[in-house]
Amino acid sequence: MYIVQIASECAPVIKAGGLGDVVYGLSRELEIQGNCVELILPKYDCMRYDHIWGLHEAYRDLWVPWYGAAIHCSVYCGWVHGRVCFFIEPHSEDNFFNRGCYYGCHDDNMRFAFFSKAALEFIHQSNKRPDVIHCHDWQTGLIPVMLYEIYQYHGMSNQRVCYTIHNFKHQGFGGCEILWATGLSRESYYFDPERLQDNFNPFSLNFMKGGIVYSNAVTTVSPHHADEARYTSIAYGLGHSLYLAQDKFSGVLNGIDTDFWHPETDRYIPEHYTKDDLAGKAENKKALRERLLLQDVDKPLIAYIGRLDDQKGVHLVHHAIYYALNKGAQFVLLGSPTESAIGSWFSHEKRHLNDNPDVHLELSFNEELSHLIYAGADMIVVPSNYEPCGLTQMIGLKYGTVPIVRGVGGLVNTVFDRDYDNYHLPEERNGYVFYNTDNYALESAMERAIGLWYDYPEEFEKLIIQGMNCDYSWKYPGKEYLAIYEHIRHK
Ligand code: ADP
Repeated sequence: MYIVQIASECAPVIKAGGLGDVVYGLSRELEIQGNCVELILPKYDCMRYDHIWGLHEAYRDLWVPWYGAAIHCSVYCGWVHGRVCFFIEPHSEDNFFNRGCYYGCHDDNMRFAFFSKAALEFIHQSNKRPDVIHCHDWQTGLIPVMLYEIYQYHGMSNQRVCYTIHNFKHQGFGGCEILWATGLSRESYYFDPERLQDNFNPFSLNFMKGGIVYSNAVTTVSPHHADEARYTSIAYGLGHSLYLAQDKFSGVLNGIDTDFWHPETDRYIPEHYTKDDLAGKAENKKALRERLLLQDVDKPLIAYIGRLDDQKGVHLVHHAIYYALNKGAQFVLLGSPTESAIGSWFSHEKRHLNDNPDVHLELSFNEELSHLIYAGADMIVVPSNYEPCGLTQMIGLKYGTVPIVRGVGGLVNTVFDRDYDNYHLPEERNGYVFYNTDNYALESAMERAIGLWYDYPEEFEKLIIQGMNCDYSWKYPGKEYLAIYEHIRHK
């Protein structure tokens, strides 16, 4: 099959979170399984150009219709760790992708509406005719809308769209200007509850809703989150749209790229190790302590890696730090704050804990350091309020770092705690799960984990190995996506 992925991120060249990992990992797996895959991405000024090989101008004069006129773009082509990527660079005073950031601008809706239009225009003008266009999250929600309403009349009537929602919280909104800019134009037609009109604000268009209504298949990133989205309020107002789309909506668990995340080959860690010989893991713990100036003592090391955001349960992350220290454990946090208030809060904690030899808080995005933490820590906490899939627990499992997670979303599909769950066999147990959002719930799980580490080290090692036995690679999810593509292709 010929598949084009269109997204706002692709790791490691453009990565703000899990979306980037998924777009890269899935594309790689689809190629391994014998398909032709190309990616279309924005050409941001701040992306990691050092991860692109052979970047060259591939298409010089792409004129993208915009507000009845057109914006001149260049399209660059390069290889990101083996994947063919096309990067769209608009030349206009809007300066859409030269802002020193991926997201967080006042006109993000316009930036990504333009990107969606440009991606389709590029496919159209370069005569690419993929079997399936796979687009991701709100940034590309208008792609199936424009494909159906405009581009199918320009020779693109055979293209099918799979739309994957990684996070329902960010949906992308706009008014008539979006329609005028993209050429969709007929206001009363699109401001309709059956089409793009937001389910709660009649004066707003909702990009993600457009993606749901117009795509041939809609997925989210784990089966449990698909249920949550349908039956709870976690879809942030899109529950009814999902209900109407239930025949084409499903959950496919994300995978992790086990070429990149592998303790036997990882180039960012000083010692490689396997589940049969964990000595290297102890060496990595030592190296991590040395790097972060923690004391080298007989204590378990607990980590948190992720965005510092309400979604991630920041209050519980904060509590986990102090609870770990009280219970004789060390704590390392690698977190990127998404709001200035959360940033100031954790900066204050960092200063407060500065002289404590058992804790380190790193408030930045640091890919290299994250590998060392996954390899060197004993446990990783993921106390999310909601978690569509979650990658950190899966990476933790691969590196023998026992996850302590809240039982929501994809965490339910990946971490099994025998104490609470009779559906899994004892040998499938791989971590600790708690359910409530209060401190006590978190403490109960952390206490059991720290207790096992201190009192039953052999049992703890068994848990590590059972976790390392789990296969959360892209192999199976890749097959599931291919089955979905096949299904929509023949409809
Ligand atoms: P998200 O909700 O952010 O997508 P996921 O768990 O799905 O969360 O994916 C997070 C990905 O981003 C993982 O690969 C994790 O290692 C990485 N990550 C998150 N925050 C940081 C950080 N501050 N530094 C390095 N990597 C990070």
